[in-house]
Amino acid sequence: MDLTIIPPHGYHAVEHARWMWADPGCDRCDGTGIVWTNVWDHDINEYAPLYREDNDCDCVWTPDEDVLEELDRRYRARGNPDRARDAWDGIAKSLGPRRAGGWYWSKYWGAGYTVVSIDYSFYDGDPASPSWKMTVQWDDGHHTTHCTSWDFSQDSCDRPPARHPGPAPIPPELHSATPIAASRRGMRSRLMSLLGSHC
Ligand SMILES: [Zn+2]
Repeated sequence: MDLTIIPPHGYHAVEHARWMWADPGCDRCDGTGIVWTNVWDHDINEYAPLYREDNDCDCVWTPDEDVLEELDRRYRARGNPDRARDAWDGIAKSLGPRRAGGWYWSKYWGAGYTVVSIDYSFYDGDPASPSWKMTVQWDDGHHTTHCTSWDFSQDSCDRPPARHPGPAPIPPELHSATPIAASRRGMRSRLMSLLGSHC
């Protein structure tokens, strides 16, 4: 089956829809492909509609039914290996070395955190379209859930080195101990040992 899709010239893909195109110059839908209509039940409320219903605009174009079915079947088919592998590779790259239970340092935030859990879900129930998010506990105890990618230049598995404390303070006795006094003490002990040897 030829699955080539050739939408009408100038048509744009409809957002959040697969294999659907609309005319950007359409007066009814402004190119969104969707027309909203009010649904009334005047017995219940004659002043406000019950709800609004979305319908495909008349300008919407989709491939032929059999092509659409085949595209859908392939898209939803389990074991779309290339797509799934690329997706999981991307996730592995985003996660970096992080694992549940591990502790990591964020240089950007200047704070450490422990990964509580990493959750995966599948876009539109498609097993080949995984996404992820992680819940972390920061060292100060608060939790956040996000999907911030690992940054090899900013993040680390190691605690940052302790700030260098600077030069050690000089012991007070060294303040008064002048080199002269030290050498005099040396001479005196040498003199004592000389005298001692003569006695
Ligand atoms: Zn339209």
